[in-house]
Amino acid sequence: MSVSTAIGPDQIAAIRADLPALARRVHDDVPAVYLDAAASTPRAKPVIEAVRAFDEQFPANVHRATHQMASEATEAFEAARADVARFISAAAPGEVVFTRGTTEAINLFANTWGASSLQAGDEVLITALEHHANIVPWQLLAQRTGCVLSVIDCEDDGSIDTERALSCFSDRTRLLSVTWISNALGTIVDIEPLIAHARSRGITTLVDAAQAVGHRPVDVRALGADAIAFSGHKMFGPTGIGCLWAHGELLDSLPPWQGGGEMIDTVSFDGSTWNTPPWRFEAGTPNISGAIGLGAAVRWLEHIGMDAVAAHDLAVTGDLARRLSGIDRVRLVGTPTHRSGAVSFVVDGIHPADCGMLLDRHGIAVRTGHHCAEPIMRRMGVSGTVRASTGCFTSVDDIDRIEQALTRVIEVFG
Ligand code: PLP
Repeated sequence: MSVSTAIGPDQIAAIRADLPALARRVHDDVPAVYLDAAASTPRAKPVIEAVRAFDEQFPANVHRATHQMASEATEAFEAARADVARFISAAAPGEVVFTRGTTEAINLFANTWGASSLQAGDEVLITALEHHANIVPWQLLAQRTGCVLSVIDCEDDGSIDTERALSCFSDRTRLLSVTWISNALGTIVDIEPLIAHARSRGITTLVDAAQAVGHRPVDVRALGADAIAFSGHKMFGPTGIGCLWAHGELLDSLPPWQGGGEMIDTVSFDGSTWNTPPWRFEAGTPNISGAIGLGAAVRWLEHIGMDAVAAHDLAVTGDLARRLSGIDRVRLVGTPTHRSGAVSFVVDGIHPADCGMLLDRHGIAVRTGHHCAEPIMRRMGVSGTVRASTGCFTSVDDIDRIEQALTRVIEVFG
């Protein structure tokens, strides 16, 4: 069976040629099939080259020295910020704060906006789908401020019903912090009406866009949220780099989180004053090579075209879900109508960890377990799943291979 996608076979071949890890052979010389993009995407060649250029030619610190290599490093670092800002249609590069990833971006928001704005009894509204990165920072903050975590339940198919979500806002809701796409089930949450509702009530909004930014066009101004968080390694960039975007007025109003070099304007033993954003939130030497690599990743994605990436994503994930659900003894966990990037399933009689290991022997890389989203696993009545996750490089052949391998695993396992 085949599926027609927005990215034709020739372009898929070109994309795959840019992702050297996809050419790997594993175990007994089996060609690898990479279906773990929701955890980390393969690194794109231009990313590898940009990082190498920094390491080999101008591996200096940024913003601090006047010598040529430092200027080149600073220029490349700030150009990467501008690339990311353009990619998400931010109003200015200064609205993009480099962090270690989505987790650090949400913690930054919790420890700046949250710590300075939330009081005892104030509610932070999240969904049942959240990754631990959008649960635990709020629980930590609740211990300090007395704020309360309030959860929008999902439907039995793993979707978020807009009416139900809107009914969860209360007079004490101060923040809507919501995932755009669930890493565990692949659910696309219709976040626009929730953001619009929050805005109309003066409620601040933060979007966990970890699974969205590399999968669909993102225009933060059109989205209307106050802030979004995402990770470079889920969009073909390096690990250890990600971003918090927040609109300029909000970012300006936030106090610092971590203290140290770069985030200050002046320092004396009597006290210090703060740099302007984004540097106010980038204490210490940042991940310079990571940022430069992320800049290369977004240019690479722009070259493919995010409309094509999104269309391919929907087609390929839909096909994957259909094919896997057609295999005897396989049950999809989460069957939302709108799905992107991930399909979770369990196999009757085979533990997810065993299933993942056996698929690996066929060269198929998937993730097993709770996917750092324990509450949604519990809500769906499972302790864990096998998750196959896709990207703009996923081919029909990849889907054929997992379908065949899973069928074989089930036959052999008995
Ligand atoms: N949020 C979602 C939806 C994710 O999928 C992930 C990672 O899987 C994270 C947050 C955390 O991202 P990171 O580990 O890059 O900080």
